[in-house]
Amino acid sequence: MNAPAPTALMMTGAEFRESLRALKPTVFVDGQRIESVADAPQLQPGINAIALTYDYALKPELQPVMTAVQHTSGKRVNRLSHINTSAGDLLNKLEATRIVCQETGCAQRYLVHDALNALGQVTARIDDARGSTEHHQRFLNYLHEVQDRDLTLAVAMTDAKGDRSKRPHQQANTDAYVHVVERHAVRGGRSGIVISGAKAIVTGAPYVHEFLVMPCRQMTRDDADFAVCCAVPVDAEGVTIIARPAGRPGEKLEHGDALFSRKYGQSTGVVLFDKVFVPEDRVFYAGEWEHSHHLTYSYATHHRQTCIAARAGFGDLLIGAGALMCEANGFDPGKETHLRDQMVELIKITEGFYACGVAASVYGKPDPWSKTWMPDPVFANIGKLLMANQIYDMHRIAHYVSGGLIVTLPGPDEDHNPETAARLADVLQASPDIPYDKRIQTARFIEDLTAGYQGGWYSVISLHGGGSPAAMKQEIYRNYPIGSKVELVERILERGVAADGSPAAAPHDPDRAITKNRQPGKCCDMGCSTPGQPMMVDLPTVEATLPSRREG
Ligand SMILES: Cc1cc2nc3c(=O)[nH]c(=O)nc-3n(C[C@H](O)[C@H](O)[C@H](O)COP(=O)(O)OP(=O)(O)OC[C@H]3O[C@@H](n4cnc5c(N)ncnc54)[C@H](O)[C@@H]3O)c2cc1C
Repeated sequence: MNAPAPTALMMTGAEFRESLRALKPTVFVDGQRIESVADAPQLQPGINAIALTYDYALKPELQPVMTAVQHTSGKRVNRLSHINTSAGDLLNKLEATRIVCQETGCAQRYLVHDALNALGQVTARIDDARGSTEHHQRFLNYLHEVQDRDLTLAVAMTDAKGDRSKRPHQQANTDAYVHVVERHAVRGGRSGIVISGAKAIVTGAPYVHEFLVMPCRQMTRDDADFAVCCAVPVDAEGVTIIARPAGRPGEKLEHGDALFSRKYGQSTGVVLFDKVFVPEDRVFYAGEWEHSHHLTYSYATHHRQTCIAARAGFGDLLIGAGALMCEANGFDPGKETHLRDQMVELIKITEGFYACGVAASVYGKPDPWSKTWMPDPVFANIGKLLMANQIYDMHRIAHYVSGGLIVTLPGPDEDHNPETAARLADVLQASPDIPYDKRIQTARFIEDLTAGYQGGWYSVISLHGGGSPAAMKQEIYRNYPIGSKVELVERILERGVAADGSPAAAPHDPDRAITKNRQPGKCCDMGCSTPGQPMMVDLPTVEATLPSRREG
């Protein structure tokens, strides 16, 4: 029997919170300077959600899903900072993300996974182009440090962007995009670069350890200064974080209507970089504009697949709450057909986009440069696009089965008003089997998730997080093998394409635009399997004995 892999440091949630005390970032929330992020009530729901990803990795029964062995170090690490080497890894990452997000709504830390996997890919590509090993080795050193110190990173990718119709170098204000202002800087005997500019939307910004700064779009030669990718500690000199509170902290803590978001939520911050020095060993590239597309493509593909799992976790919450609300109203949705239809619709939506995530894993392939595993871009983008649109249907269904109570109930203070509480409890109970307080608790939970501030947050992150729908449509069209389908029909119509091998057949024209986009890897002998062989190249490592997340 093989010896178990050594384990990198794995903090508990409490240790994660404590680790934030060692950092002194400049953070403002609602116009106030935050002295201690770890203690700021406004940020606790966000910290709680990330803390859970630490605690879950230490649960023995979740270890096969929540941890993985990093192939470049042989150490067991948190799966949310692990580099994929198989389709099974991608499946396990989906499961891990769904588990932590069904508990917290959005655990935020999965972005670390997506960014590190993309960084590994782009650094390998740059090295291949240059015939060096420098960039990828620098990335591996950083990766191992992140894993060994069990760090959480935030992804600082979306620039302020200024006028959307203009490229980075055309902006009136160059700080609209983070860019290099000094290429050969020396500070305290260390050489590096200096960056300035603004990242507009950074999830978890105040309460992470470091930022991964990455370009948010394809760059041209003229944009070379804006093609910069590096790691920056949150408290580096020159960094200012202006954030909003995470969730709805502190609202009526005991009996409030923000039942979920007072405990779990997400802060997003605008992050300003003002002449921030980044030492060389933290610079993954600076100026390599021609590789920016590979980074954004890789990150978006990983991230869109992961977002599918995160929002499936949100779907789990709505499915459970919707069923409870039906029951509290006096219905068994299995017997009341129009309510059952709604519940089935909610299940179909959730499992439908999640299934795209599964397909993206199963049809995943190694990245040609790093050889690490990439989800299939078509399924990853279709799943994210379905979710981006159907999040609004998910909210509608939760509202449909609940009735108007979710936005009309008297406030939680009334629960303790001696003049009204008993009478309200009497008249507002529905099913005789479900006490009034359980009914209103479920109603307030659904309000919080779908009809209040936090409900709006889930809609907008589903629509725009990981890129707006237009970006997904572009990727689906770009990667879908329409050419193969054209050839199929031309062959059936006997138009004489080369596939039938007849002497009269016209040779396949590689320059013909409509047939250009063909499909290596699926149903052909140029891809990851020979025809007729199973697509799966590796079995998932989820243990058969592990309770399914659907069973709780
Ligand atoms: C809750 C939340 C959390 C997020 N977390 C992070 C994070 O942690 N890190 C991070 O880096 N980003 C994060 N994002 C940012 C997310 O990736 C962006 O919202 C998304 O890429 C869209 O960019 P934008 O918000 O600037 O919208 P815009 O780019 O302004 O887009 C608005 C609309 O204009 C269209 N549009 C924009 N530019 C063009 C153009 N040139 N041509 C044609 N149409 C155009 C878009 O398709 C869209 O329909 C988060 C977003 C949300 C909502």
